[in-house]
Amino acid sequence: MDKQEAKRSLTEIMAKFTGYVGKRLPQDVLDKLAQLREGEDSPLARVVYDSMFENQEAADKLDRPCCQDTGVIEYFVTAGAGFPLLGELREILGEAVRRATKDAPLRHNAVETFVEKNTGDNTGTRVPWIEWDIVPGDCVTIEVYMAGGGCSLPGAAKVLMPSAGYEGVVQFVFDVITSYGVNACPPLLVGVGVSTSVETAAMLSKKAILRPIGTRNPNPQAAEMELLLEKGLNEVGLGPQGLSGKSSVLGVHIENSARHPSTIGVGVSVGCWAHRRGTIRIAPDLSYEILSHKEAVL
Ligand code: SF4
Repeated sequence: MDKQEAKRSLTEIMAKFTGYVGKRLPQDVLDKLAQLREGEDSPLARVVYDSMFENQEAADKLDRPCCQDTGVIEYFVTAGAGFPLLGELREILGEAVRRATKDAPLRHNAVETFVEKNTGDNTGTRVPWIEWDIVPGDCVTIEVYMAGGGCSLPGAAKVLMPSAGYEGVVQFVFDVITSYGVNACPPLLVGVGVSTSVETAAMLSKKAILRPIGTRNPNPQAAEMELLLEKGLNEVGLGPQGLSGKSSVLGVHIENSARHPSTIGVGVSVGCWAHRRGTIRIAPDLSYEILSHKEAVL
């Protein structure tokens, strides 16, 4: 396959996969929603969970997005330095978004700032947003995330004085979720970044919600904080769609980095019940494997 043909082929794969992610929830989210539904004994909460599964069935049947807000598209790319189309990937992903917007279809969500005009194709300055991690190897793994207006609303980051300690981190998470959490559609997937400055904490909090639900931070203390935050936030009792129930969250994930001794940066990013995230691994010959969804066909 020559380079032009390879570019066309990868654009098509990524356009189809981006559209697919808008329509079908990943398996870990479906499994967790089913588990939370089983744990509810309030008839209202169970009906709301049932409606989420009916919504997913309808999206499947009609081949339409499972929420009208298909978000701003963000790609998190872990690229092998030897991947043959590394230099072309930015252009490919931009074109994939344009194509998915038309074919899926996806709602037009990119407003060019200062110009204040909707671009009409979900692309614009630095959008789709792309984060890069270059690693050894020749494959590329791409996470697609649809950052909806509601689920991104509760995002916030702050730098705490070190005297605030980890208690300050917990207080910040609770303040953010109890002030804005119901603006997203619960149960929520809460990502927490613990780091050194606002931008590193905010980015790590976003990476935290890309982790499969149920995975734990490898640091035992961070993993314990994930569990304690989950327990505490569930006691707030937001329930599905904020209508009260036994659970508030799909989970709490923490990602961390080393920090400057005089700061503790903390960031919070939130995913909603319709957590549209997908992971695809692409080999140098452009054969691919979808890691996030069972039996996915593009
Ligand atoms: S919070 Fe999620 S489910 Fe609710 S409207 Fe926004 S994207 Fe859709």
